Amino acid sequence: MRSWPELSIPELSSGFALPALSLYNTASAQVEELAKKKIYRMYVCGITPYDATHLGHAATYLTFDLINRYLRATGSEVLFVQNITDIDDPLLERAQRDGISWSELAESQINLFRGDMADLHVLPPSDYVGVVEAIPLVITAIEKLQIAQTTYQVEEDLYFRIHSDPEFGTRSHYTNSQMLEIFAQRGGDPQRAGKENPFDALLWLAQREGEPGWPSPFGIGRPGWHIECCAIALNYLKPDPRDDFAIDIQGGGSDLIFPHHEMSAAQSRIIGDQRFARMYVHGGMIGLDGEKMSKSLGNLVFVSALIQQGVEPTAIRWALMGHRYSEDLMWSDSLMSTASEEVERLRLNLARMEVAPTTPVIENLIAALSKNLDTPEVLDVLRRWMLDTESGVVGGEAGELGRALDSLLGFSL
Ligand code: ZN
Repeated sequence: MRSWPELSIPELSSGFALPALSLYNTASAQVEELAKKKIYRMYVCGITPYDATHLGHAATYLTFDLINRYLRATGSEVLFVQNITDIDDPLLERAQRDGISWSELAESQINLFRGDMADLHVLPPSDYVGVVEAIPLVITAIEKLQIAQTTYQVEEDLYFRIHSDPEFGTRSHYTNSQMLEIFAQRGGDPQRAGKENPFDALLWLAQREGEPGWPSPFGIGRPGWHIECCAIALNYLKPDPRDDFAIDIQGGGSDLIFPHHEMSAAQSRIIGDQRFARMYVHGGMIGLDGEKMSKSLGNLVFVSALIQQGVEPTAIRWALMGHRYSEDLMWSDSLMSTASEEVERLRLNLARMEVAPTTPVIENLIAALSKNLDTPEVLDVLRRWMLDTESGVVGGEAGELGRALDSLLGFSL
């Protein structure tokens, strides 16, 4: 599927040394250093295109954009793949509610998402892949699971025996009762009669009346949610067989820890030759004015609406960077207006003839990013530089700082 336009990133001067990036790995429950490599493989789960692009999406994709930019700045190549779940239950439900075709709804939301990502200066993935176009890959992946005798049928549908992976549960660390509760909340079917284990994952759903279906050796139907991501990741990220892991980073919001990432990893373990991801990195959830931001509450804040109101995309990045990516954030109008003011102040300072020293600012900014993306510290570094500049300290080069902010933070100033 077409991605959004590539952005040119100014190069950092070779005078800046970038330490290895450390990130919080959900699987180990620790902040770990990502060893330096020539090529990193990163897979970030994409949207189901029916409510693009709210601030929760923006926060997630900003986080992985900062990781992408940092790793690239170290001189490495980053293979970055993202999917779009362009066929799934929520999409069909929304299309039916609104009386439009599911494919039209998906197309319009994908277009909106592309535009929002381009506006937010998020670097596009090397491959942006829809599930519908990936159905042949999904079929091949399911056939590998069948050969490994890890599948079974419940009526006309096909399931994966999740405990075929001896490491099932080790990436998400929930108790059995937590997993049962969350699985049911997030599209799972633990109670379905005929399943061998409540957690077994749906691989192929036989066509239901009034729903679309695609031909396959398992009958006409459509893929389950988890199989799509591992099929796409293992194909497009071309794992190196000499590596212990198929990919380096599996990313998404914290609501994907279970079941989605646990189940994708379990399936990938059987389909591929290696364990799936070296690190599982998750962004927090975004709330609004003290409440959870959700479709059901109808309080989603959309990126396109903010931009239409005249908010500049860099200010949205700044506002989201005010908290650590892994923590939940409570959004408010005042957070947005303060961010807009600070970005304007930064722009004015960068336009001055004389500015405070910039090399140590860039060094501190790199150091903060390297420590599990300490973006609140990044903003504090910039606030201190603005104060120094405003109080007449000189000796810096605004152009050098502007390039670093563009390259590492995606700021367009
Ligand atoms: Zn996914």
